[in-house]
Formats: sequence, C-alpha cells, structure tokens
Amino acid sequence: MNSHDIAFDSQHIWHPYTSMSHPIPAYPIVAAHGVELEMADGKKLIDGMASWWSAIHGYNHPELNQAVISQLNQMSHVMFGGITHPPAVNLCRQLVAMTPEPLECIFLADSGSVAVEVALKMALQYWQARGEKRQRILTLRHGYHGDTFGAMAVCDPDNSMHGLYKGYLPPHIFVDAPQCGFYDEWEPSDLEPLISELTKNHREIAAIILEPIVQGAGGMRIYHPEYLKGVRQLCNEYGILLIADEIATGFGRTGKLFACHHANISPDIMCLGKALTGGYMTLSATLTTRHVAETISNGEAGCFMHGPTFMGNPLACAVADASLTLLLNSPWQQTIANIEQQLKTELLPLASHSAVADVRVLGAIGVIEMKQPVNTAALQKVFVENGVWVRPFGKLIYIMPPYIITPKQLTKVTDTMAKVLGQSIK
Ligand SMILES: *Cc1c(COP(=O)(O)O)cnc(C)c1O
Repeated sequence: MNSHDIAFDSQHIWHPYTSMSHPIPAYPIVAAHGVELEMADGKKLIDGMASWWSAIHGYNHPELNQAVISQLNQMSHVMFGGITHPPAVNLCRQLVAMTPEPLECIFLADSGSVAVEVALKMALQYWQARGEKRQRILTLRHGYHGDTFGAMAVCDPDNSMHGLYKGYLPPHIFVDAPQCGFYDEWEPSDLEPLISELTKNHREIAAIILEPIVQGAGGMRIYHPEYLKGVRQLCNEYGILLIADEIATGFGRTGKLFACHHANISPDIMCLGKALTGGYMTLSATLTTRHVAETISNGEAGCFMHGPTFMGNPLACAVADASLTLLLNSPWQQTIANIEQQLKTELLPLASHSAVADVRVLGAIGVIEMKQPVNTAALQKVFVENGVWVRPFGKLIYIMPPYIITPKQLTKVTDTMAKVLGQSIK
C-alpha cells in the first residue's frame, strides 16, 4: 500500500465510528501471522485486541486456513432455505454440546448485531404465540449489544446513540448496572433496582437482555456472579425470558467457556459471535431452548420470521467448527488462567498512577480505566511506535489478546500500556 492508497482510504472509506471529514489515521496492515500484524512498511505490531475479541487463536493459523481452503474447494456458499450441509451440522452439533444444557435450537446469522436482533424477535414472537402482549425489553445501563436498530435500543441510553435516534427507537426499560465488582464481597442490595422495576412492570416485559459478567463496549465493567444468579432467579419467578449476550465473552475469554458458567446459570436465549470463527469470518449464532423454539413454531406465524441470504454460510461454518475443535483440544483453561495471572501482576499496580481511576482483570481481559477520556489517535500512535496494537476508546485502555500470546509478548503490551499513561490526557 502506497501513500495514494492511504489517501484514497481517508477520502472514500468509512471506518468504525470515524469522521469522514476529519478521519483519524488508519494504519495499513498487509498481513498477519500468529499474534503479529504486519504493516505495509514491514514493521510488526503485537496485537493486544484480537481484532475486537475475535482472533483467539491468532492469525493465519494453519488448521483454520486448511478448514477454509477445504470448504472453498467443496462449495463456498449455498442458500440455507430448504438445503442443509455438513459444515452447518458439524458446527451446530459442537455448539449444542458445549453450551449450557437446555440450549439446543440454533439460528445462524451474519453478525453479532443480527444475533441480537434475532434474540429480541424470538422473545417477542414467543409472547405473541402465548397470546400475551409483552413487547418491552429490560436491560442494564452500560450495556452494549450492537449497532442495528433493535440492538441499539438496548444499548446504554446515555453512553450510546439514543440521543441521535430519539423518537425512532422503541422505549425499553433500563436499570442501574451492577455495582458489585467480580472480586468484591457480594451485596444482595445490588439487585434492588432490578427487583423494583420487575415488581412494577413485569407483566409488560418480554425478556431481560444482558452481557453476562463482563459489560464490554459500554464500559468494560466486570460484575459479581451472584448478580447474574439473582437475575436468573428473578426471571424464573416472573416468567420472563433471559437473553445472555455472550458475543464478547464466549469461547473462554473470561476464563470459563461461557461467562454464564461463572454463575452456573443457563439463559433461555444465548447470542454468540466474535470469536465463533476464530476471527476468520463474520458469523453469529442465537441458541434457544426447545420450549422457546416450539412455542414460537406453534404460534400464529407457524415459524420464526427471519432468514438471511447468507444464513449458515458454509465457509464461515467450516472455520467456526475448526476453531471450536482447536479451542476444546487445547489446554485453554490453563492458558487463560496464565494470562489472567500475568495481567494481574503487570496491570493491577498501575491503579496507583495519578491518571488512573481503576484497573480490572478477568480471564484474558485487562482494563485500565482513566480518570479522563483519552485521545485515541495520539495513544494509538504511541502504541504503534512501540510495536504494539491497542485501540483505546473513551476513558478505557484495554486489551483482550489472542490466547496464543507469549508471556514476553504480553509483557511488551502491558509495558507499553504503562508507558502511555502519562501521555494519555487529551
Ligand atoms: C460486538 C458485540 C455485539 C455486536 O456484534 P457485531 O458483530 O459487531 O455486530 C453485540 N453484543 C456484544 C456484547 C458485543 O461485544
């Protein structure tokens, strides 16, 4: 890539949450191997982001490459309406086996946001089939569930796009996010905002949607497993569906295969995405119970009303199947426990820095929350100069590296995080 390519990019191509008139720089990456991204000039960056939670096995993994190539030579895509194929069946068999027991009916879709749309539609169709008018969704402040309209409507109302689309988004119910941290002593009063809302409005509520244990893009907050247990219990008491958005937390990231396992609970609907294909391709899955699936199917519509063109894409399913096999055949618990220990050792002491508000670690996730918002472009530049890829946003400098990162590579990432702290004020 030469300077013309980069100029073309900044003139014509949107990037995530980036201005078209004053874009921040986009760095040219031409290859990626293992934990390293290779820039056009040959410089290598250690990846602290796993391409937004997804590249858990690193880049250019021989087994994942082979899965794509083999499938490509069979067929890259075929419609899923009235057709099935081995990659979809193999993948779904693994998903049923590895997710909490009652989840056994799977809807495959294109992206995390669409998985959330599907989950919300399932909840609405479920109540419609039961002849009850329940159309409100309850969720937690500081949540993030995606960028499509249904998903946006359940993202944090202050720290998201609600202001921009006011009047256009359905008004859902927000309760204060849990205050009790993962490692704090459990305080049952943490559930009170939720209990008081349910007492008042439970007859209107179709479902509660939340990110189990780790609230990701809405603030990287890590909360107490007892809270999640309490939510499950309340959903049972009031007969409300629980949707667990495990799009970020799934596949080992928090130290358990799914974050729901920290609380030993099972949701009625679970959304998966991001690491599902090991970061190779876009694919998501929404899983539900036989009860929910049958109720929907016995309702007025007679089926679930959704069917994306690229549903069950064979290439994506094949690489997802290979990625799950790779994960389950690896000592992932030990690997992630080691990363967690190293993150605690190297990041927790930074909590005493005068610009730092808090440091949080769980599994292969490390978060530094600053007292002030950081300058993303300026910090990214320092990271790149130091051979590290980290993309801070808001007040957060955070990492979720590929699980194959070596201790030495991880130290380089955390050292650079420590180094930028003094330079992070806008
Ligand atoms: C990233 C994310 C989504 C949206 O997934 P996309 O693939 O970006 O549409 C939804 N929920 C959570 C918790 C996420 O982290």
